[in-house]
Amino acid sequence: MTEKKNIAIMGAGLVGSLLSLYLAKRGYKVDLYERRPDMRVSTLDGGRSINLALSDRGWKALRGIGIEDEVRQVAIPMYGRVMHDEQGNLTYQPYGKEGQAIYSVSRAGLNMALMNVSEPNPDINYHFNRQVQDVNLKTNEVTLRNHDDVIDETITPDLIFGADGAFSMVRGALQKTERFNYQQSYLEYGYKELTIPPAEGGGWLLEKNALHIWPRGNYMMIALPNTDGSFTCTLFFPYEGERSFAAIKNDTDLLNFFLEVFPDAVPLMPDLAQDYFCNPTGSLVTIKCFPWSYEDKVLLIGDACHAVVPFYGQGMNAGFEDITVLDKMLDNFDGDWQSLFKAFERKRKPDADAIADLAVMNFVEMRDKVADPRFLLRKKVEAKISEQYPGKWNTLYSMVTFSDLPYSYALETGQQQDKIMKKVMKHIQTIEDYNKPEVQQLLEKQLIRKAKLKTYQPQEA
Ligand SMILES: Cc1cc2nc3c(=O)[nH]c(=O)nc-3n(C[C@H](O)[C@H](O)[C@H](O)COP(=O)(O)OP(=O)(O)OC[C@H]3O[C@@H](n4cnc5c(N)ncnc54)[C@H](O)[C@@H]3O)c2cc1C
Repeated sequence: MTEKKNIAIMGAGLVGSLLSLYLAKRGYKVDLYERRPDMRVSTLDGGRSINLALSDRGWKALRGIGIEDEVRQVAIPMYGRVMHDEQGNLTYQPYGKEGQAIYSVSRAGLNMALMNVSEPNPDINYHFNRQVQDVNLKTNEVTLRNHDDVIDETITPDLIFGADGAFSMVRGALQKTERFNYQQSYLEYGYKELTIPPAEGGGWLLEKNALHIWPRGNYMMIALPNTDGSFTCTLFFPYEGERSFAAIKNDTDLLNFFLEVFPDAVPLMPDLAQDYFCNPTGSLVTIKCFPWSYEDKVLLIGDACHAVVPFYGQGMNAGFEDITVLDKMLDNFDGDWQSLFKAFERKRKPDADAIADLAVMNFVEMRDKVADPRFLLRKKVEAKISEQYPGKWNTLYSMVTFSDLPYSYALETGQQQDKIMKKVMKHIQTIEDYNKPEVQQLLEKQLIRKAKLKTYQPQEA
């Protein structure tokens, strides 16, 4: 068994770029092939700011290569959700305990930061404008379209990482192999990015340290802050139906609709029509597949093997966690890549499936339930339980967002807790009811039962 040193990563997005740093740290020589031009010299997305919520799993991976502090300087903490109702009234719900936050970061800014950190490393080489066209799994030959010279090139790396996102060409090659499982499902919703610009003279027009939500039953808009004072809003909206992308045909339809359902946002969005009609409508897909590897030659990572819908803000975080897990496995690496890949995919698959399912479930919570006073009361009750029983009760949101407990464990525990909450909430009309003896007794009993069920025991990778 020989160690292979000639590694190619297909796709220099968030996951591919971070992976290159981890592999180079271990002495491997890495070449990245990215279909797009270098985003540091060529503006993508028409110069729009697109941001992502970064949470504990993502931070952990950034810490591992020493760039946590640098990213924190340009990340905006969001300590809770601000819900906007149809009259413009606001309700606030903290995400976690005092001081806990998810962080809004610029997608391009983070990607460029990762590239800049790699640049001085002689073992990392980026090749832009190189699009994977085909991967021959027998010979390891990768055909790349060179967009600079409009010619096809062939490379033959020893090892290929497919970090080329949800529509991965590397996965496409694996899909042609025998007994490869593949499942994709689209929501009947798309998304559209819109903008709230900075205030005149600078600053933010909405509360800066929060994620804003306009929940409207079967659709919603959210807004995350940017460092320049703007907010990137995302409208999640059905493709078809009475209230849908299909129903909004012109500026008048758009303005009437926004004035009716998002009235407090309209005065903050001077370029609404321009944004709405010029920006693309994105689709929302969940992708599950297995296996994630081919012999000792190919491994898929990030969205390429587990694309999730964005409603838990975990897609990138999960992709970054893939790298943390793989890196830990490399501590005990004996040179057998095939065994490493098999162990990795076995470990990660249940967690990738769990976050995919949780993300779909959270869509209903965000667009609908957060507007329901009973739901908000339940959240307050849950916060009280986790305060009263530290270590025995961790909310599902906290387990997913503020811990690195396996997603599959979080999902399972969340389901147990959900059953308990349904029983408890039958006795609660206001938050004061929490202290009633019958509620306290019920909780005691349920928590004893829960403690007998599985608790998480970390396992060595
Ligand atoms: C609207 C929206 C909001 C989101 N919000 C969040 C959030 O708040 N928090 C969070 O954690 N996640 C979020 N996500 C998910 C997150 O964007 C993805 O999980 C993350 O970008 C995955 O990283 P990746 O590197 O695996 O794939 P990508 O980011 O898709 O990168 C893949 C790279 O490969 C390149 N590539 C593709 N095909 C080829 C090819 N044939 N040849 C060469 N290169 C190729 C692409 O150009 C790209 O650079 C969101 C996603 C969406 C759609």
